Amino acid sequence: MIETYWNHLPDIRAMYPEELEELILSFGEKKFRAKQIFEWLHKKKAASFEEMTNLSSTLREKLKQETELVTLKPVQELISRIDGTRKYLFELSDGNVIESVWMEYKHGNSVCISSQAGCRMGCRFCASTLGGLERQMLASEMLDEIYQIQKDSGERVSNVVVMGTGEPLDNFDALVRMIDILTHAPGLDISQRNVTVSTCGLVPKIYELADLKLQITLAISLHAVNDEKRRELMPIANTYSIEEILKACRYYYSQTNRRITFEYSLVKGVNDSREDAKALAALLEGINCHINLIPVNPIEERSYRQTEADAVLKFKNMLEKYGRNVTIRREMGRDIQAACGQLRKKYMEQSGEKEG
Ligand code: SAH
Repeated sequence: MIETYWNHLPDIRAMYPEELEELILSFGEKKFRAKQIFEWLHKKKAASFEEMTNLSSTLREKLKQETELVTLKPVQELISRIDGTRKYLFELSDGNVIESVWMEYKHGNSVCISSQAGCRMGCRFCASTLGGLERQMLASEMLDEIYQIQKDSGERVSNVVVMGTGEPLDNFDALVRMIDILTHAPGLDISQRNVTVSTCGLVPKIYELADLKLQITLAISLHAVNDEKRRELMPIANTYSIEEILKACRYYYSQTNRRITFEYSLVKGVNDSREDAKALAALLEGINCHINLIPVNPIEERSYRQTEADAVLKFKNMLEKYGRNVTIRREMGRDIQAACGQLRKKYMEQSGEKEG
């Protein structure tokens, strides 16, 4: 049974339908109540037991006493005037703050969620990792990021990308539980194919994920074409080599038949030369994949600069010349935030100043 961090009550929004049934039966209630509760939690996205009006007041009271209903508290919302992107800051029950993003695309609406409060991977260009890992997020907290945003927007979420703060494969069990519940029919019922999980490359976890045969998209943050360069940008490259990552990706494809995405953040003068493009094309030869180029978002704590737009285009053309499938990630919400994790960091610094 999953418990919350702040007390030892079962975390009801993170329960599988079977677990919910077991709980309800242990209360001496009828089995069908579990289905009603699951719908309240995941379809109607209830924020309190009071809303569950088709349950008896006795059962609602029992649930209130014996379980915890995890609901995030919105503390800030920024809306981009350029493209309608919205950035949300939510407070968790123990005071930690996390960020999530809503993005509108032609093909549908995407929510980008955080999987950890902070991160311990230490990527040099990333703001989310500067303060280290505060704690793991619960499956219920990840789900509520999506639910709250959907409620706020009033529109359907068609895609979920786990690309916010944190390393999702470093919070593996909660991640898998979240995906299972998110893609479960009586809940929000998002197709697994519309869920993307991005990782800096925790090789053993990629194998574990592959064996689950979920139909989600795996995105690998590659960012460099050889281990030496990658180690400069990403400390995790000291633990796993690019060769090991690519082998794990081939295995992932063999188990799931899902095309892999490789993310490549372009940093001026570091990984954006013609040679880098050629080497990248060669590295991914024979892997059914898609490359997503991201002009790096400069963060003030580091001196990395963004590759200019025409050089990004050249890099893309070069990859295409070698037959690779490439897109350039559109920059969204430029006016409301800078790089991933910066809004959360700024907010925490400000509230720290207020407290101190
Ligand atoms: N930990 C996971 C997911 C979170 S980051 C991972 O490493 O994949 C999501 C993506 O944004 C990753 O590809 C990450 O490397 C990239 N990223 C983080 N900070 C960035 C920045 N300042 N500029 C461009 N890309 C960045």
